Amino acid sequence: MLTLTYLGVGSAFAKRNFNSNVLFEFWEKAWKGELPPGPPDDTLLVDFGASGPYAFFALKEKPGFAHLKAPFGTNNYYPAIRKIFVTHQHADHIGGLEELALMNTFVYQDKKTGKPYKAELISTINILVNLWDHSLKGGLNTMQNRYALLQDYFFIRALIPAKPPKNHFDVGPYRFEIFATDHVQIERKYDWPSYGLFVTHPKLGRSIFYSGDTRFDYAAYSRMMEVADICFHDCQFFDQVETVHATLNEMRTLPPEIKKKTLLYHYGDNFDDPALQPSLKEFMGLAQPQRRYVLFDGK
Ligand SMILES: [Zn+2]
Ligand SMILES: [Zn+2]
Repeated sequence: MLTLTYLGVGSAFAKRNFNSNVLFEFWEKAWKGELPPGPPDDTLLVDFGASGPYAFFALKEKPGFAHLKAPFGTNNYYPAIRKIFVTHQHADHIGGLEELALMNTFVYQDKKTGKPYKAELISTINILVNLWDHSLKGGLNTMQNRYALLQDYFFIRALIPAKPPKNHFDVGPYRFEIFATDHVQIERKYDWPSYGLFVTHPKLGRSIFYSGDTRFDYAAYSRMMEVADICFHDCQFFDQVETVHATLNEMRTLPPEIKKKTLLYHYGDNFDDPALQPSLKEFMGLAQPQRRYVLFDGK
């Protein structure tokens, strides 16, 4: 079974919620009830932003998340994360990766082999190369007595969008297929890479849609959103010229049956403004932080 837990649901600048980063957890054996019987068999973190380490620190104290807590001390246990997918390079999606890499290498070093713990870092080659060159290299390119590379900290997996079988990775039987999103444009659509995820269980024929950061583009996403059991879509509450996110007013133009199965995330700190509530009622709701959503309860 597969679950999804938002570390946070906030926009890039939100302070009442952490950054919109998500933990997927997979168990071979389905369980029922409030709490899992034990740690998951596989884990995937989708993005880890600047507030990610604090969100992780809070989540590990919640019932059912003890596997995120270090066996010694009280800190985050990053080796609990096996896979990390990066949707794009904004700091609210990658700003926590330096800490994660350093702690996996120097704090959670395997005592027997002396090797650092490495998670699998997954994205497109364009994002992975730029993630290192423009963001992580500054803090991570030196170790004691030598220079280091991205692969010193992570196992690297480069995907190619729209080119099966390179357009997806798997967590248990679940397929995580990437698709390009229209987030920021330099000169034209899709020329600054950013991705969303379409998660399917091939045998059960069920799926979920996860938008990543994107402008409103239902024409591009309708095929996925129509068949998905549940949609997670980013949303900003205010209108804006040249916006880089889907606005609430744009999202309200979705067909009613799509709105009813869509949870909004990546939202601002005014989420409880009474004036917004009538519009928000048209949707399944606002995604809640640090709450485990069961996506697929079968195998
Ligand atoms: Zn963002
Ligand atoms: Zn962004």
